[in-house]
Amino acid sequence: MYDIQKIREDFPILSREVYHHPLVYLDNGATTQKPRQVIEAMVNEYYSVNANVHRGVHFLSQQATELHEASRETVRRFIGARSNSEIIFTRGTTESMNLLAFCFGEAFMKEGDEVIVSTMEHHSNIVPWQLLQKRKGIRIQVIPMNDKGELQLEEYKKLFNEHTKLVSVAHVSNVLGTVNPVREIIRIAHERDIPVAIDGAQGAPHMKVDVQALDADFYAFSGHKIYGPTGVGVLYGKEKLLDAMPPYQGGGEMIQRVSFEKTTFNTLPFKFEAGTPDYVATTGLAKALDYVSAIGMNQIQLHEQELTQYAMQQIRQIPDIHIYGEAEQKDAVISFNVGKIHHLDIGMLLDRLGIAVRTGHHCAEPLMQRLGIEGTVRASFALYNTKTEVDQLIAGLDRIAKMF
Ligand code: PLP
Repeated sequence: MYDIQKIREDFPILSREVYHHPLVYLDNGATTQKPRQVIEAMVNEYYSVNANVHRGVHFLSQQATELHEASRETVRRFIGARSNSEIIFTRGTTESMNLLAFCFGEAFMKEGDEVIVSTMEHHSNIVPWQLLQKRKGIRIQVIPMNDKGELQLEEYKKLFNEHTKLVSVAHVSNVLGTVNPVREIIRIAHERDIPVAIDGAQGAPHMKVDVQALDADFYAFSGHKIYGPTGVGVLYGKEKLLDAMPPYQGGGEMIQRVSFEKTTFNTLPFKFEAGTPDYVATTGLAKALDYVSAIGMNQIQLHEQELTQYAMQQIRQIPDIHIYGEAEQKDAVISFNVGKIHHLDIGMLLDRLGIAVRTGHHCAEPLMQRLGIEGTVRASFALYNTKTEVDQLIAGLDRIAKMF
């Protein structure tokens, strides 16, 4: 039983008004709202536990450390990783991908080596590779997609050669909503002994992820897109690969011994976690993962799929609508334009009705170039959205279409 009213009551912000309209929050792809349970856990930690983690001899430091490491265990369980050593806390998907590109690049790539990404990547899975390209002279290969917004796996297979060192693709497109066949993408790469990194920023919040079942070599996601706080994210990596990679940043926490002659590094995962971690945010993240796990990721996915299908049916009725992303496997994101109306105008007019959507290129400019457009309006759904909110979006769009 999916009790949407009870769920909505957990999110205080959902009851506020914007321009005298009840808030309809459909910008969940950018960030999700936070349930009371997450906010309270973080406030409580600041009220009654706060102390820097690791190596503290005093009571509070030990308690804060226990909370922080228990959060790592929660993340491990949530994504089905084998060991806590494989869970690196970062600031978010962007930092996870930069860490990966830098450290994997240092360990395993040289001039002329290649990474395979896809047409529909977020800039955070493009630009870090371009930085590596500048630094080391690597090459970037791109998996094309068809007009429905699905990756072309036959073309993907042709991109492998003796220079290929890694495949790095999005689990779910933040623009098209396409759920990429990552299991198949990984299988194809592994047949050729090539590891695969998954940008799960839009995957983990919407479906059950099991990194071992997927056999993903790396998996990244952000706390704030899964009902947790900003400033924390995760990079999962297989221990063998992480062990072979050098540290990302230097400083406290990541070392074993330091002298001016020689420094040795800490064990996993601390080798990749220089400096004081955001231990209050990791508590918030763990609470968020507990929260979605209690509802059930499969239930959340069912709810969001039903909502997406309903919204797709309704939105097709809008005169002159153009929808980007009609993949068979599509989840929780609808990008569109209406006639010649600028996406920004639509976003601003919807805002006046209390409806929050995102407009622009969605940090996916190469995808916009492939689609031949400058930007779209994007409505993206979360576990607390309702059909009534979809109806409000459609009514708003109908009004705007008629106005123009
Ligand atoms: N990857 C995808 C697919 C995204 O949608 C986003 C954010 O929108 C990111 C990466 C970057 O996430 P963050 O800004 O939380 O680091």
